Amino acid sequence: MIKENKEIVKILYEIANLLELKDEVFRSRAYRRAARSIEDLSESLHDIAARDELEQIPGVGKAIAKKLEELLQTGQLQYLDKLRGELSKELIELSEIPGIGPKTLKVLRDELGIQNIKQLRNALEAHQIRDLPGFGERSEENVQRSLELYLQHSLQHRGRIFIGKAFPIAQQLVEELEKLSEVKQIEVAGSLRRWKETVGDIDILVTSTDPTPIMQHFVNLPSVTQVLAHGVTKSSILLDEGIQADIRVIEPEAFGAALQYFTGSKTHNIALRRLARQHGWKLSEYGLFDLKTDQRIAGSTEEEIYQQLGMIWIPPELREDTGEIEAALQNRLPTLVHRDDICGDLHVHTNWSDGTETIEAMANAAKQRGYEYLGICDHSKQVRVVNGLDETRLREQIETIRILNKKIRGIRILAGIEVDILTDGSLDLSDDVLVETDLVVAAVHIYRKVSEEKMTDRLIQALKNPYVDILAHPLGRIVGKRPPYPVNLDELIMAAKQHEVILEINAFERLDLPDTAARVAQENGVKLAINTDAHHTSQLDAMIYGVAMARRGWVEASSVINTQPLEKLEKTLKHVH
Ligand SMILES: [Zn+2]
Ligand SMILES: [Zn+2]
Repeated sequence: MIKENKEIVKILYEIANLLELKDEVFRSRAYRRAARSIEDLSESLHDIAARDELEQIPGVGKAIAKKLEELLQTGQLQYLDKLRGELSKELIELSEIPGIGPKTLKVLRDELGIQNIKQLRNALEAHQIRDLPGFGERSEENVQRSLELYLQHSLQHRGRIFIGKAFPIAQQLVEELEKLSEVKQIEVAGSLRRWKETVGDIDILVTSTDPTPIMQHFVNLPSVTQVLAHGVTKSSILLDEGIQADIRVIEPEAFGAALQYFTGSKTHNIALRRLARQHGWKLSEYGLFDLKTDQRIAGSTEEEIYQQLGMIWIPPELREDTGEIEAALQNRLPTLVHRDDICGDLHVHTNWSDGTETIEAMANAAKQRGYEYLGICDHSKQVRVVNGLDETRLREQIETIRILNKKIRGIRILAGIEVDILTDGSLDLSDDVLVETDLVVAAVHIYRKVSEEKMTDRLIQALKNPYVDILAHPLGRIVGKRPPYPVNLDELIMAAKQHEVILEINAFERLDLPDTAARVAQENGVKLAINTDAHHTSQLDAMIYGVAMARRGWVEASSVINTQPLEKLEKTLKHVH
C-alpha cells in the first residue's frame, strides 16, 4: 500500500469497526469498502484529491470524500473523535477480531458484560458462551478459534500473504469447486490474478443458474476454519493460516465486467471508467452501459469490454495504470514472456552444498518439466554454513557433471557455480577454476549491511569479472522476510549492460529483481534470466512466480535468456564447454 495512504486506511477501518458496534451496519460497510479501495491504490490520496477525483475511487461517495478531504488537509477528523468518545478502547479491539461479528459481540457484551479480550477468555474457559440464547457448543468453539487466530495473527502483524503461498491454495479451491456441475464459469480475480507479490485475500467468481449447492460446498470445504458469511450469492471463509477466501455468483452477461472490476487494480479501473465516460458510457461491475439509454453495450467477457473501449484485451499482470491503457489503445502492448517459453533453469542447488538432492535427481526433475538444460550452481566456500565448494570440490563436481552428461539423455547439465561476491567486489574463487565451469552466477550472501555506495561499488566490481554470466538475486531481498540491501539500481543496470551481465529474476521466495526493476532493466537493453534457485526438486515449480514477476515488469521472451534453446544459449553464455 502507498505509505501516505496507510494512516487514512487505518482510520477508515477504525470508523467501520466503531459504527458496527453502534449497530450502524450500512454506514459501517460503506467505510470498510472505501478503506479496501484505498488500500489497493497505487497513487497517493493527495494526488487524487489534487485532481478533484476522490469520488471516482470505488466506494467513496460524497460524505466519505468530504471526510477524506478533512483528513488530508488537517490530519484530523472530528467525526472519528466523536465516535471514539462513545465507546471503550478494549471493546474496539474486540470488534477487530475476524469471525466475531458485531451481532455476536453485542450479545457477549449485553449478556455477559464482556468488554475486553481478557474477559472473553475467562468466559470461554468457564464455558459461559454455549449457554447464551441462540448460541451452543459449536458457536462457543467458533469464538474460541477466532480469538486464537486473531492473537496468533496479530503476533505476525496481520498482513498480506505471499503469492507463493496464496496461489496453490486458490488453485486447490478452484479445483474443488470445478467438480460441481452447477459451476459454469470460474475465475480467480483480485491481486492474485494480477500476480502481485503479496495478496490480501482470495476472490473467486463463478456463474451458475443454481448457486445454493455451490455456497453449501464452499463453506463446508475441509480447509475451512471459520465461516465468515454464508449468503445466497456471496460467501466468505477463513482457511488455515488465516487466509480469507470469498466467492461471488455473477450473472453470465455480467461475468466479464465483474471479472474486470474485481481484478483491479483500482487505479487501472479508475482510468478505464474515465475512458468510458468520454464515450458517454458507464463502466461498472455489472457491465458497460450507455448513459442515456441504460443499454448494456458489453459485459459477458472482458475482451468485449476492452474492445468496445477501443483497445485489445490487457493481461491482468499489466493492470496497474502504468502506461498499459495508452499502449493498448495504440496497439503496442508487449508480448509477455510465458512459462511455456522457458527452456531451462540456470540456478539450482544440490546436496554438494545446501540442496537436498543429487545432481541426477535435479536433472531428471528438470527433464520432467520439459527443460532442455539445467544449471547446477552450488555455493562457494565463503558460505561455510552450507558447505560451500572450494576450488578442489568444484573441479570434482565439474568432472561428475561431465560424466553424467554422457549417461543422461534428454537434458544437458551445465556445470555452474554460485560464487560469492566478497566485500571488495572480488570473487570467492579464482578465475582459473571459474573458466572451467559452463556458467558463473555471482551473488552477495554475507556482509550485507553496508552503505548504498559501498554495495553498488561491490556489485559493479563483480560484474567486471570477465567470467560472470549472471548476477543472482541482485537486490538481496526475500519477500516479507528480508528487505533489499541499498543499491543504486540505475548504476547497477548500466554496469550490467556495459559488461554484458545478465540480471536474475529469482523466482523462489525472493522475487528479486522485482517487477518494476525488471522493467527498467529491459528498457535499458539488459538481458534477464528467470531462475528458481531450487534447493529441492519441488521448488523447480516456483518458475511460475518468476515468470509472473517478469510479466508484471512488461518483460518479453526475447529479453529472457533461458527462453533460448540450448544451442543459442551456449553462444549467449561466456564460456560453455
Ligand atoms: Zn544465492
Ligand atoms: Zn542459490
